[in-house]
Amino acid sequence: MSEFAFSLEAQHGAARAGRFTTPHGVVETPAFMAVGTLATVKSLDPDDLHAMGAQMILSNAYHLHLRPGDELIRDFGGLHRFMQWDGPILTDSGGFQVFSLEGLRTVSEEGVEFRSHIDGSTHVFTPESVMRIERNLGADVIMQFDHVIPGQSEESVARDASERSLRWLVRASAEVERLTREEPPRDNSQALFPIVQGGIHASLRREAARAIRAQGDWAGYGIGGLSVGEAKPEMYRILEVVDSELPSDRPRYLMGVGFPEDLVEGVLRGVDLFDCVAPTRMGRNGAAFTNDGRLNIKRAEFRTDKRPLDERCDCTACRRFSRAYIRHLFTSDEILGLRLLSLHNVHFLVHLMRDARAAIRAGTIDAWSREWLARYHSRPVTAA
Ligand SMILES: [Zn+2]
Repeated sequence: MSEFAFSLEAQHGAARAGRFTTPHGVVETPAFMAVGTLATVKSLDPDDLHAMGAQMILSNAYHLHLRPGDELIRDFGGLHRFMQWDGPILTDSGGFQVFSLEGLRTVSEEGVEFRSHIDGSTHVFTPESVMRIERNLGADVIMQFDHVIPGQSEESVARDASERSLRWLVRASAEVERLTREEPPRDNSQALFPIVQGGIHASLRREAARAIRAQGDWAGYGIGGLSVGEAKPEMYRILEVVDSELPSDRPRYLMGVGFPEDLVEGVLRGVDLFDCVAPTRMGRNGAAFTNDGRLNIKRAEFRTDKRPLDERCDCTACRRFSRAYIRHLFTSDEILGLRLLSLHNVHFLVHLMRDARAAIRAGTIDAWSREWLARYHSRPVTAA
């Protein structure tokens, strides 16, 4: 009996409100997953994440394989225990990271040989070895190793990468079966998500989605290779194509897309799960998401500003502190400043998806999203 299930509670147009059941609990969708690349959502601890209502987080096989090592994490009882997060976890396969190592990697049908960005040591990732790494980490959802290409790649390049990703999916799936036969998982079972590739080419995306569905009945689907340099209208167009090709009774995860407007546009096109490093990375640089667009707290205009970052936000940073105080922390290089902005930004996206979910359930998602997007886009962006 599978420990994974997905049920739809409400649907309006392509937008869906659902419940994704995993061995570590239920994720109410649509949902934003905070990114803990190195087994930590930078500057936030599990109590912070629980308090803001975060339900599922993401971590990264490439980084944890290199440091501290996936076998070490396995010896600590897996990622949930190592980082003390008892909710659902998804691990990314490292495809994006490995293919980003331009000049430090060699791609073949077998896999990718690359040099570590930390110490230059040589490693090989294959569809099989990545499954072993993700098994050691023990996340609930594990992503296949895929061939990632730049967003504007021409059709022949995109086809080559997409077809290789499909062949790698067959190998990944066989390895999961072999591992499960030899040594059943000690704790939770894991769901392998395939990744739909195909760049900005609608016909390739269709072919990839159909070929993946023909390979098996998956617990969920990743949509990869978007928000990597293509124009936003292209991304939205491809999401509509993929929405029409994937089964409606499985969750869809749009990989690495996490700016507020992209989340809302993605929900309108049938996406259930999102992740992005933007809220913490931008937070460390002084940028805050607000319902009125982005602001950069380091600007002089906030020096005497008594208002919170966002008057409509109820995160601990906004409930207690003024823009002037947080700006002072940033200009003084105090670490509390980057922590407060990271906390606010992650809270903002978690709650944005919670609001979208409520609107879908209430049947008001069209009006809600129109009003939200108009307000968000109407104010000048003051981020650097
Ligand atoms: Zn806030």
